[in-house]
Amino acid sequence: MVRFQKGALLVGPPGTGKTLLAKAMAGEAQVPFFSLSGSDFVEMFVGVGASRVRDLFKQAREKAPCIIFIDEIDAIGRARGKNVMMSNDERESTLNQLLVEMDGFGTDTGIIILAATNRPDVLDAALLRPGRFDRQITIDKPDVKGREAIFKVHLKPIKISEKLDIHKLAEQTPGFAGADIANVCNEAALIAARKGKEAVEMQDFQDAVDRVIGGLEKKNKIISPDEKRIIAYHEAGHAICGWYLEHAYPLLKVTIVPRGTAALGYAQYTPKEQYLYNTDQLLDQICMTLGGRASEDIFFGKISTGAQNDLQQITRIAYAMVTVYGMNNKVGNVSYYDPQQETTFTKPYSEETSKIIDQEVRQLIDEAYERTKQLLTEKKDDVAKLAEALLEKRSTVPK
Ligand code: ZN
Repeated sequence: MVRFQKGALLVGPPGTGKTLLAKAMAGEAQVPFFSLSGSDFVEMFVGVGASRVRDLFKQAREKAPCIIFIDEIDAIGRARGKNVMMSNDERESTLNQLLVEMDGFGTDTGIIILAATNRPDVLDAALLRPGRFDRQITIDKPDVKGREAIFKVHLKPIKISEKLDIHKLAEQTPGFAGADIANVCNEAALIAARKGKEAVEMQDFQDAVDRVIGGLEKKNKIISPDEKRIIAYHEAGHAICGWYLEHAYPLLKVTIVPRGTAALGYAQYTPKEQYLYNTDQLLDQICMTLGGRASEDIFFGKISTGAQNDLQQITRIAYAMVTVYGMNNKVGNVSYYDPQQETTFTKPYSEETSKIIDQEVRQLIDEAYERTKQLLTEKKDDVAKLAEALLEKRSTVPK
């Protein structure tokens, strides 16, 4: 007889179709499908989670062969005993019950358990032991080819213009998961319908992409002309940096149309399909992200709060370079990466090292900022030209 795997972990970012895949497996095998989500167990009374798990497995045993699917397993499966901030009795008892149930049936009962997560690194080691979720299946965000294929699926029920370039759509949606693409197709159809069009056109899709990235366009958001100028020069600064820095991602689009609650504008880039980054690439990434603030500094002689998000990002990258990737000479080839870091207060290094880390991060960012200002000062005319074009047209697609 064939020996079945008992459990498999589907690992990947949200929206990549992990639930769909699990359902499809059950459909393909023509067996019942039972599911629950880890987030259902948050803030539950003690004991309820464990009894829910018990019930689920009881039902499954009666209906076997079948597939059990646990979405967001990290909500219950986080490593035990590391959280000092809040009581986690409930999560622990739920997790314990799950482990008991998984051990309680053999591979011959015909029950297969699939669980989905995007944080396998925080899971309790007990879950990953042989006989439990000992197999991991990675479900990543689609590359450009994958996105094109997904677009084709979601475009089927939509009446699209003959001129629609599906490949270009796939190119313009880097980092989009399947669910985002479904969203874009849906939005594009709505936008076209609102305009009374017979078929959905490229422009409708581009508007839909903007909407999915940044939220709804705030048509009645009042932005003073002075603020608009600052935003335009800020975004132009990012864009020109992205354009000239050798290792930065290619610029896709820059806009100053206000959207959602936070974004006053944004520059969108095409991330390369890559998994390793070298020091030069990370430094250029930092410079590009500092481009907004540097541009404000150069053109207006003062800075605004508009760079807060940019600064958060570069602070994260800079600290990672120094403390995680071993990219700093003084700190050396060490990595203090700890997936549980968010739940502990102890640092794995001395006070002295801590000081050096802060200094080195500070210096790295200061140098990057100087380099960014130098570049933008050299290309001042380009920044001004682009910013003025943005003020006139509100968004610009290069090429
Ligand atoms: Zn910015």
